[in-house]
Amino acid sequence: MQVEVPEYTVAEDVGVDPSRTALIIVDMQNDFVRPEGALPIEDAAATIGAIGRLHDFAREHAMPIFYTQDSHYAGDREFALWGEHCTVGTPGWQVVDELAPDAGAGDVVFRKDRYDGFFGTNLETTLRQSGIDTLIICGTVANICVLYTAASAAIRWYHVILPIDAVSAVNEFDLQLTIRQVGWLFRGTITRSGALRASPDAGIQHPGALDK
Ligand code: ZN
Repeated sequence: MQVEVPEYTVAEDVGVDPSRTALIIVDMQNDFVRPEGALPIEDAAATIGAIGRLHDFAREHAMPIFYTQDSHYAGDREFALWGEHCTVGTPGWQVVDELAPDAGAGDVVFRKDRYDGFFGTNLETTLRQSGIDTLIICGTVANICVLYTAASAAIRWYHVILPIDAVSAVNEFDLQLTIRQVGWLFRGTITRSGALRASPDAGIQHPGALDK
C-alpha cells in the first residue's frame, strides 16, 4: 500500500522569544537510543547532534530546558505492551550521556510512566510558573511520546515547534504522521534545529497564546 503524504511547509527561519519559550527533550534514554537498549529506535542516535544544537541554543538564550524520562517500576502495566524498559535506576533508564541533563544549570527532568509528558507530572505547573507559552519539542519516539506530549501541550494552547531533524521514529510513516498531526491538526510550526533564532519580538502567531 502506498499513501500520499499531504504537503507541509518546513519553516526556514523561526524566531522565538526566549522569555516565553522552553525546550522539551523527550525520552532520549539509553533503552530507546542505544542499539543494545530494550526498545531501540534505529534513527534516534542520529538525532543527538540536532538535539544538542537545540540544547545549546536554549542554554545560550537562558531558556528553560526540560526533559521527560520514561520511568517504570517492576510490574508496570506497560511491560505487557512493550516488554520491560526504562526501569528506574537501570542504565537503560538514564538519558544518554551526550544529552545528560545538568541540574546545576537548571535543567529539570520530569519522570513519566505513560506517553504524555503532562500526564501525572508537574510539567504544566512548571511551565505556567515560568511564563512559557511556546514549546520546542524534540526527542523520541516521534508518534508516541513526542506526539502525545505535543498534543497535550497544544490542547492547553501552548504553541508547539517541532524541529523534524531532532525527532525519530520506527519508520517513515510514523514520522510523517507525527509531522502532519503537529503541523496541521495542532497548528504547530514545523522546522529544523538550525532554523531557530532568538527574537524578543518573535513573529510566531501564537494561537490563543497564554497571557503572561
Ligand atoms: Zn514506557
